[in-house]
Order: sequence, then structure tokens, then C-alpha cells
Amino acid sequence: MKQQKYPCVEINLNHLKHNAQEINRRCEEVGIDLVGVIKGATGLPLVAKQYIDGGAKMIASSRLEQIEDCINSGLKTKYLCLRVPMLSEVSEVVRLADYSLNSELKVLKALNEAAKKQGKKHNVIIMADLGDLREGFWDKDEMIDVALLVENEMENLILSGVGTNLGCYGSIVPTPDKLEELIAIAEKIESKIGRELEYISGGATTSLMRLWDGDMPERINMLRVGEGVILGRDLDRYFDYDLSSLHQDVMTLKAEIIEVKDKPSHPIGEMGIDAFGHLPTYPDRGIRRRALLGLGKVDYADTSYLEPLEENIEILGASSDHTILDIEDNVNNLSVGDVLKFKVGYSVMVYVTNCRNVKMYYID
Ligand SMILES: *Cc1c(COP(=O)(O)O)cnc(C)c1O
Repeated sequence: MKQQKYPCVEINLNHLKHNAQEINRRCEEVGIDLVGVIKGATGLPLVAKQYIDGGAKMIASSRLEQIEDCINSGLKTKYLCLRVPMLSEVSEVVRLADYSLNSELKVLKALNEAAKKQGKKHNVIIMADLGDLREGFWDKDEMIDVALLVENEMENLILSGVGTNLGCYGSIVPTPDKLEELIAIAEKIESKIGRELEYISGGATTSLMRLWDGDMPERINMLRVGEGVILGRDLDRYFDYDLSSLHQDVMTLKAEIIEVKDKPSHPIGEMGIDAFGHLPTYPDRGIRRRALLGLGKVDYADTSYLEPLEENIEILGASSDHTILDIEDNVNNLSVGDVLKFKVGYSVMVYVTNCRNVKMYYID
């Protein structure tokens, strides 16, 4: 491997493809199309490619730039726009995406106009809010009316189906009951339009619980999965599911030690605020061995989803460009120039893949 620069993130493409294959296998067993969500990894086309090689039927992002990058990289597949579109981006949505998730009549009308202008048919999935309180219709009668308007009056839109999103804002778990609610809405629409909908889109990574438990309601036939494929950690960490069939080391963050010194653990002098306007507490543990990394909040935003792979290292805090570690109990005699590895959580992944200061290396 060529000489690396730090900080960097290593992406193991083989492990990523394995995870996509594994989740896709479980989806296919119950007739579900896996949609590969790339926004967590800033839409890297090579990440999208592993999803497709692993069997995903479509690639999705909340950001059109990421979809465009994938198209420009030559990845031929269908694309889905995840974030309900801004009115100002409807023509780009039609140009770049085959499908979009929607929750506003005004936007649907604009999408229809944009599709007409471009001589295209654009597929829409109408979103129901089942309690998570992010996007989607709260009033389900209104949702059905809008679906009928799309079906009957918007010639350049195809009513593909309905969907929901759970576990993002309101932390609501996709129980079988919640998904049955979505299916009931779909079936009401189907009885009015006299045909079966193409998709009933039953959520994101958290909906994988239903696959693992074997109680996915039968008519759910699309899942949009990001974290569960790329990191494969949340369901294990927060819900205690057995994810041992997935690789949890697709992404590894590496950073270099730039200072090692013995220092007091409590700051000395009159205390004001830190670099971000907070006044944290600093337990006084006496003189301790500390290390500084050339990596900071600008690169990953928040230390809480950063986990040292090396044992007996504690992350004490960070400022914009420095991360401060307690290495008193580490037995490896760490010194300046050593490189430490970290496991990343979702938010760290979002930042480090999107930061020009963090180099990216693909390994396979
Ligand atoms: C981000 C997102 C997903 C994927 O979420 P993960 O938890 O990463 O699987 C699915 N659907 C929508 C609408 C999203 O915004």
C-alpha cells in the first residue's frame, strides 16, 4: 500500500460488499428490494458500487449531488431521492432520480410539471408519518387523496407506492403493528385505483429488526438501508441483535499522535469557557500521561461516536483540530508519530468522509 497521510479513513470494499450481499440475501428471502443508501458515506460512488455488486436494486441519497456523482462515475442503476424534495430542486430531482419520496402536494405538482418539460415519467412514493414525526402525511385521509390526485391527474408522475420512515427523529421502532398501518394505507389506495402498488417501502436500518426476528409483514417489499450495511453496528449496539454475519470494520479512522506529555488532569487557572462555548467538568485525577492527535472536531464533530481500537485509551475531549487522549493506562509506550485506529459511528462517518482534511484510502 502506498504511504498513507493522516488523518485518514480506510474503507474495506470487500467487507462492504459482503455486508450488502448478506443483507440483500435476507431481503430477497422475503421478497424485499434492497435500496442502498449512500448518504452516510457522503455518496462515495465506490460505496454505491459495492451495494450494487452485493445485489441492491437501487441507490438512494438525500443529496442530489451524490446521485449525480454516481451517475457520472458510470454506475448504471435506478436512483431514489430520499429527502422530500425542495421546491427549488424539482427539475434536478427529475433529471437525476428515477424515484423520489414525497409528502407535499405542491411539490408533487411541480415534479409533474418538471417531468412534462423533460419528457419523462417520474416515480413517486408517498410518505406516511406513523409517529416518528419527521417527513410524511400525518392526516392519512389527506395522504390517500393526494395519492389519488397523483394517479388520476398527474400524467408525468407514476404513483409507485407508499413508504414510511421510523427511528430517525422520534426514535420510534418499526414494530410489525406500525408496518401493518402502512400496509393498510397502501391497500386503501389500491382498492381505489384498482391496481397493486409497486412498492410499500418499510423503512431503514431499524426495519432490519423485522428480518432478523422473522416477522416482517408480508407486503413490505422495499427497505432503504444505509447504516446497517456500511457500519452494521446500531442494531447490535442499541437493540442487542446478533450481527455477527456482518463486518463491522468497513470503515477505520486513523490519526497520528503529535504530542505525548505528563500533565495535570484538571486545568490550571481561572476557568471561562472552552473553544465551543461550553464549560465541561474536568475530574482531577492527578498527573496523567496524555497524547494529542492531529484530528479534531472539524473532522468528526463529536467525540462520542469515536472508539479507540487500542485498549486502555480514553478520549478526554477535543477542540477544532486536536483530540486529547488519556494514555496513562496504555502499556504500548505510545509516542509521537504513532498512528491510532478508531472505529467510527454513523455521525463520525458522515463527517470524516465529507472532510477534505481526512484522506480516503480504499482497501480490498
Ligand atoms: C437516511 C435515510 C434512510 C437510511 O437510513 P439508515 O438508518 O442509514 O439505514 C432511509 N430512508 C430515508 C428517508 C432516509 O432519510
